[in-house]
Amino acid sequence: MKNKNIIAKLKISNLRGRGGANFPTHAKWQMFADANSKKKYIVANGSEGEPNVLKDGYILKNHPEVLIEGLKIALDTFKGSEAFIFLRRDYFKKYKKKLEKLIGDLPITVFREHGGYLSGEETVLCEEIEKNLPARPRTKPPFPGQAGINGLPTLINNIETFYQIAKIAQGKYKKTRLYSITGKASYKGVFELPVDWAIKKILTKTKNKPEFKYFVQVGGGASGDILLASETTQKVSGSGAIVIYDRDQTDAWVLMRTWIDFFMQENCDKCTPCREGSYRILEMIKDRQFDEKRLDDLFFVLENTSYCALGRSIPLPFRSLIKKILPHTRN
Ligand code: SF4
Repeated sequence: MKNKNIIAKLKISNLRGRGGANFPTHAKWQMFADANSKKKYIVANGSEGEPNVLKDGYILKNHPEVLIEGLKIALDTFKGSEAFIFLRRDYFKKYKKKLEKLIGDLPITVFREHGGYLSGEETVLCEEIEKNLPARPRTKPPFPGQAGINGLPTLINNIETFYQIAKIAQGKYKKTRLYSITGKASYKGVFELPVDWAIKKILTKTKNKPEFKYFVQVGGGASGDILLASETTQKVSGSGAIVIYDRDQTDAWVLMRTWIDFFMQENCDKCTPCREGSYRILEMIKDRQFDEKRLDDLFFVLENTSYCALGRSIPLPFRSLIKKILPHTRN
C-alpha cells in the first residue's frame, strides 16, 4: 500500500506547513490521527489572501492533480473522513470545474470562502464551512485538530503542503518549496527551488538579482519582514514570497499606506487592539510623522493582545521598514 507509514515519511522529510506558520506536518498529522472521533474533516486551505503570494494559484493552475493526490493520501490515511478544498473567490471561479472533474467520486467538496484574507485563518475557515456564512475567529484552544468543523477534529493544511505530501508519498520530494517573486523583478513568477537556499541565491538563480540598490519584503507582501540586500543571506520565511523594491525609488510612507490599507480592509473589527491600533497607525502615516513612543505602545498592544494572528502580524513589516528604509525616505 503506497501510503503506508506516511506519517513516518512526513517526519523523515521534515516537511513544514507552507501556509506560513511553519508547523511540522508530521506532528499535525499525528495529533489528528490520535484524535478520538469516528468522523473527521480534512481541508486544503487555498484562501491565499496576502498580496504577492501566488503559489497556491500556481498549483491550482498547473498541478491540480498533485493536490488531489495529496488529499487522496489524507483520505486514505484517515478513513471515513470528508474533505474540502477551501478557495478564495477568484480561484473558485477559475478552478472549481477542473477540480471537480479530477475529484470524481471522492468525498471532497470545493468550497468558496465568504470573506477575504481572514478566511484563511483556521478557525474562521472552520466556521465558514460549518455555517456557510462569513465568520470571525474563534477562541483557541481548542485548536481545529481537536475541535474544528462541527466541533469535530479537522486537519487543515495549505494547498502547497498537500502538493508536497503527494510528492513525498511518491518518493519524488526534493526538499523544495514554491517561491513567489514579484515587485521590481525581471522575471516575476512562481519558482520551485530548494527550501534551504538563501534569498540571494534564489534571486541569482531566477535572474532576478537587481542591478540597482534594493531591499526585499520576505514571507508575505503585507506581513513580511523587510530585509536589506546585505541581509539576503537569510532563508525565506512565511508563505515563500519575495517582493523586490528599488531602494531609491520607493517612498516608505506610500508603501506603509498600502500595508495599513490592506490590514484595515481585511480585519474583522472584532477586537479593539487591531481595529483601533491599525486606525491610529493610519493617522500617523497620513501625517507622515511617527510619535515613536506612541507607535511602540501600539505595536506592543497589537502583538500581545490582538485576538488573532492578523493583528499580531501588523508590527513586523512596519518596524523593519521604519528602522531600515524610512531614514532614507524624503518627507
Ligand atoms: S486581530 Fe483583527 S482580524 Fe483578528 S479578531 Fe481582532 S480585529 Fe479581527
